[in-house]
Amino acid sequence: MRALMYLGTRNMAIQAVPEPQAAPDEVVLKVSAASICGSDLHGFLGKSKKRVPPLIMGHEFTGDVVAIGPEVEGFAIGDRVTINPILTCGRCEECQRGRSSICPARKVIGIDRPGAFAEYVAVPAHLCFKLPDHVGDVEGSMIESLSNALHIFDRSLHGLIKSVAIVGAGTQGLLALQVARLIGATQVFITDLVPSRLRMAEQFGVTAAIDVRSADPVAAVMERTNGRGVDLSVEAVGHASTQRQAVSFLKQGGEAVFLGLGAESNVELDGLAIVNRELTIRGSYAYTNLDFARSLDLIGGGKIDVKSMVAPKALDRGVEMFETLVDRPGELIKVALVP
Ligand SMILES: [Zn+2]
Ligand SMILES: [Zn+2]
Repeated sequence: MRALMYLGTRNMAIQAVPEPQAAPDEVVLKVSAASICGSDLHGFLGKSKKRVPPLIMGHEFTGDVVAIGPEVEGFAIGDRVTINPILTCGRCEECQRGRSSICPARKVIGIDRPGAFAEYVAVPAHLCFKLPDHVGDVEGSMIESLSNALHIFDRSLHGLIKSVAIVGAGTQGLLALQVARLIGATQVFITDLVPSRLRMAEQFGVTAAIDVRSADPVAAVMERTNGRGVDLSVEAVGHASTQRQAVSFLKQGGEAVFLGLGAESNVELDGLAIVNRELTIRGSYAYTNLDFARSLDLIGGGKIDVKSMVAPKALDRGVEMFETLVDRPGELIKVALVP
C-alpha cells in the first residue's frame, strides 16, 4: 500500500509498505480521510520528540472496516468509523479519576504506532466510534480536533463564561470560538496575523477579530470590556509572548488555558498579579473519551461548522501539503488527506 512516510526533519515521501494486519482485538480500516494536525506539522519540523522516524503519522481519521480480528465483537465489514487515537491504560490514578488524557502510559496512533496517512491502518476496535451516515468522511476526520477544543472548557464553569479571548485563529482557535459561542459566551475575541483566518472567525460570529499587525490585542480587548478583561482566555499558539498576553486579557478571577504546542516557552508571568487578582492558569492536553463522544454528537448534530475549515487533498500530494501548511499558513487552515 502507499503511505506518507516521515523520514526526518522536513523529510517525507510516499512509499510502498506492507498492508497492516489486524491483531486479535483490532480492525483494519481502509482510510477515507485523515486530517493533518498542528502537532504533525510540529513533527515534520523535527520539534516533536515523540515522533521518531520512520513513522506514518495521522491520528485524526475516518475509514471503512475491511478486516476484523477474531476477538472483536460489534463491528462488521463495511462499517464507517472514526477513532479516538489515544490508547490509555485505564488503571492509573489519572485514568480512574476521569483524566485519561494525561495517563502516563498513553500511546497514540500515528505517534507510537503507524497512523492513517496511508491507504490502510490497523486500530484497536474499542477505540472506534461508528459514524452516522450523514457525517461525511472529511467532516468525520475533524471530530478529533473538536475534542481538543471541548476539553478546554471541560473544567471551567460553563454558565459563568460570558467573555472569552482566544490567541491564534488556527484550527483550535476557530473551534474554541465556536464552542465558546455554543456555551453562551456573549463576547468572544480572537487574535491572529493572517487575514484569511480572521475573516473565517468573523464568519463564525466572533465579536472582534483583532489583527495583531495593526492593533494592540490587550488594549483592544480591554477597550471592549470596559477595562475589565475576559472570564477565560485560550492560548492556541504556544509562545512565551502569547502566553503572557493570554494572562493579560483576564479580568479579576479569570482563567487562562494554555493549549498551544508552539516553541519551547520559558514564560515569565507577573506573580503578584496572579495572587492579588486570583487568576488561574492551566494547561489543556488532548481529550477524554467523553469529550470525543460529545464532539461526535456536536458534529453529527450540525452544531459546529467544520466543513468550512477543512480542505480535502489527495494523499499523493501529502508532502506538498505539509510544506504549504508550514511555510504559507495563510493559504489553508486544515487539510484532510484522502488516499
Ligand atoms: Zn491532533
Ligand atoms: Zn492510565
